[in-house]
Amino acid sequence: MPVLVMKFGGTSVANLDRIRRAAKRVGVEVAKGYDVIVIVSAMSGKTNELVGWVEETSPLFDAREYDAVVSSGENVTAGLMALTLQEMDVPARSWQGWQVPLKTTSAHSAARIVEIPTENLTQKFGEGMRVAVVAGFQGISPEGRITTLGRGGSDTTAVAFAAAFGAERCDIYTDVDGVYTTDPRICEKARKLDRIAFEEMLELASLGAKVLQTRSVELAMRYGVKLRVLSSFEEQSDQAGTLVCAEEDIMESNVVNGVAYSRDEAKMTLLSVADRPGIAATIFSALSEAGVNVDMIVQNISEEGRTDMTFSCPTNEVPRADAALDKIRQDGQLNYAQLVADTDVAKVSVVGIGMRSQSGVAAKMFKVLSDEGINIRVITTSEIKISVLIDRKYMELAVQALHDAFGLDKAA
Ligand code: ASP
Ligand code: MG
Repeated sequence: MPVLVMKFGGTSVANLDRIRRAAKRVGVEVAKGYDVIVIVSAMSGKTNELVGWVEETSPLFDAREYDAVVSSGENVTAGLMALTLQEMDVPARSWQGWQVPLKTTSAHSAARIVEIPTENLTQKFGEGMRVAVVAGFQGISPEGRITTLGRGGSDTTAVAFAAAFGAERCDIYTDVDGVYTTDPRICEKARKLDRIAFEEMLELASLGAKVLQTRSVELAMRYGVKLRVLSSFEEQSDQAGTLVCAEEDIMESNVVNGVAYSRDEAKMTLLSVADRPGIAATIFSALSEAGVNVDMIVQNISEEGRTDMTFSCPTNEVPRADAALDKIRQDGQLNYAQLVADTDVAKVSVVGIGMRSQSGVAAKMFKVLSDEGINIRVITTSEIKISVLIDRKYMELAVQALHDAFGLDKAA
């Protein structure tokens, strides 16, 4: 029988009533003839609570015990979902990660999936089980300990199962009805996309659109898993949501398909560093070792052998960046006059695969911002994305103006 993967996020299993509603949707797919693998998150808020308990108990916690505690939220919803399905006369069984077993690396709290053997579940499906409810977000290390995949990891569990079982599709049920051209909370003209390419979704996810964990999109792209994002709150079960798929499966597309923003971005400038080979390597190795996620990098024009180096990183990583750079200064590895942190900035990006074949997108973006009197502080580009750092107070305005200018409220 064809296999379908259905993933329910925290808000979709937030209480027994929601679990019943989710189970009904599963029942509909079973009736169509699918064997279904259901991946569940913990009830919304549960994982945060568990993380809080761990941190309160032990500020410098042992990551193995963090995983033991934090993975437990999913065990509860998996069992409850299986029971709910059984009450509806759907043959269902719950599986924790280790029972499958979903094998991971031993990088506790950020483990990567190594392998999902299909034998155990396949055998049960053969014996008449119609739904395997699998606890998302968790697996087992080579040492035999429970691991977790990082926050939001159930999406990645779902895609990995879809790949391993050759599922027809991987449906991600969440509290929004799809992927939007931008955040509807700050732009009322935001439009739900029927389809979006993997690459675009990847950019949007890594830019902070919280619908899908970035790794799940990477995995889906690598294995060609068709991903559908849809709401578990809408009444009709045949709503289309947004299909995340290969470029070839999208007929017509706007040049720009999404405008993303990130509020918590800081602009860091190292004043007066020596302009010679090895300096950038020294700076960014130190930052990477300190776990600072550097995004944009600009090296300014040098004068008399010295230059300024600007980079951006999440605001909450500023102290870590500061400490890491100060340390290499004290060690004598790097000499600079000052590190200036500007936390009053925001990043706004436009994303679209159409940029590969169409020129002038950057020029248009800069013109739109200048017409609004918005000064651009840093620019970076990739094949399908242009990002700028601007003053945070203009962020909403920039998003709305760009959304209008690129005609995102209308389909291609
Ligand atoms: N419950 C985990 C979290 O909140 C995993 C997930 O829901 O995807 O991060
Ligand atoms: Mg999530």
